Amino acid sequence: MEENQNDEKEGLDQRGSIVSRHVVIIGAGVVGAISAIEALRAGLRVTLVEPGSPGDRQASSYGNAGWLSSHSVIPPALPGVWKSVPRFIMDPLGPLAIRWRYLPSSAPWLIRYLASGWTPERVETCAHALRTLLAGAVDLHRSLAREAGVPELVEHRGLLHPYLSREGFKADRFGWDLRRKTGIEWQELEGEAMRELEPNLSPRYQFGVLVDEAGHCRDPGRYVSALVDHAVALGAELVAGSATGFRIEGDRLKAVQTGTSEIPCHAAVIAAGAHSKDLATAAGDRVPLETERGYHVLLDDPEVEPRFPVMVSDCKAVVTRMEKGLRIAGQVEIGGLEAAPDWRRADILRDHLVTVYPGLPRTLPSQRLHYWLGHRPSMPDGRPCIGQARRSPDIIHAFGHGHVGLVGSARTGRIVAQLLAGQTPDIPLEPFDPRRFS
Ligand SMILES: Cc1cc2nc3c(=O)[nH]c(=O)nc-3n(C[C@H](O)[C@H](O)[C@H](O)COP(=O)(O)OP(=O)(O)OC[C@H]3O[C@@H](n4cnc5c(N)ncnc54)[C@H](O)[C@@H]3O)c2cc1C
Repeated sequence: MEENQNDEKEGLDQRGSIVSRHVVIIGAGVVGAISAIEALRAGLRVTLVEPGSPGDRQASSYGNAGWLSSHSVIPPALPGVWKSVPRFIMDPLGPLAIRWRYLPSSAPWLIRYLASGWTPERVETCAHALRTLLAGAVDLHRSLAREAGVPELVEHRGLLHPYLSREGFKADRFGWDLRRKTGIEWQELEGEAMRELEPNLSPRYQFGVLVDEAGHCRDPGRYVSALVDHAVALGAELVAGSATGFRIEGDRLKAVQTGTSEIPCHAAVIAAGAHSKDLATAAGDRVPLETERGYHVLLDDPEVEPRFPVMVSDCKAVVTRMEKGLRIAGQVEIGGLEAAPDWRRADILRDHLVTVYPGLPRTLPSQRLHYWLGHRPSMPDGRPCIGQARRSPDIIHAFGHGHVGLVGSARTGRIVAQLLAGQTPDIPLEPFDPRRFS
């Protein structure tokens, strides 16, 4: 059946009826799920290939901090970060650490990471590009959540950055000045005003920045699962399996290979998150994709009810009240996809949670704590790869969203559908060119 359909002339079958272009979307994380919905909306026939349960623990989309932070335009590497490299290597439990054994494998990525943040001008270029991808994200996600029947999962109430003092905020001035240049606005709150806004926070936080335009997702895993269910209800087929490569004839895609079999198709989207590198190579593009491993700790039945999700500057962690508990997420560990988790990192996050919210018991019972390790799919310059593949224009790259994959997925899905339909994308794609490092 599949074979016949692909052999049919694209556009019309032998009887003259319309045959829609068939796209195989590889990976049902948040990027794949939204790409599927948008492709269906554009009139394509969609198959989603995913080895796990959509939105489950294997996906980075499951355990992130839920921030729909359209102001997250500052890439991870900033000027002068090279001075911290010895600490990254020597302190295995620092907020950013590079595992010794993995250093040789990650060195090319690290060099590009440092280079991308070498000058303020490079960082500014990146910030403007990311802003085009992230602006308006909350509205896009609200509308997707409504459409998928889970409007309660996306909230728009702003995100708060607490600092110990105004001096701490000033120390981060480079990033905030840059945000202002990209058109982002915020409120600054001092002392009592800050405490009134978020009384649950430790009084050690005397200054805060509230970004009103931003929002959050109250259960990213359930959100992805609902988006995939919605795509299936709209007609997508969900196939259990792992894509391994492509059958390409000339420069036209004929099928996505899944090890033992193949799925005939006219187009494909690589949206396998941190696992996209080999597929990108098979599509003709060698990309410096690395995993920035991150952790979360979820506390059941928290004794405090924070009003706002917070990015706590001194802990370098984000805390969000999720549907199922209070989640603290953070840490960056360069150690590859295969290494075992280092749960001491999650213990560090757990301890931060207690410091940030004094209303929690000093010792949190282990049966109320849930630990998770996830893989951010990260490019050295903090910008995803979105665009056509070298071996075939029928293959679209849509991966590498690093720290902003949840917030950036809504616009990415729309762009993917526009590329599949041969339309002009919403935003300029040069900054996201998959070939920018080759
Ligand atoms: C601790 C932490 C906190 C974060 N906080 C935030 C945040 O607050 N806001 C934000 O915007 N981002 C955040 N992120 C980043 C965000 O989670 C990711 O950028 C985003 O989830 C990436 O989505 P994705 O769909 O590209 O990849 P994933 O969610 O990883 O999905 C990829 C899917 O592809 C599947 N797959 C893998 N290989 C194959 C294959 N060969 N064939 C078929 N399928 C395959 C996987 O099973 C998986 O389901 C955070 C990440 C971490 C780790």
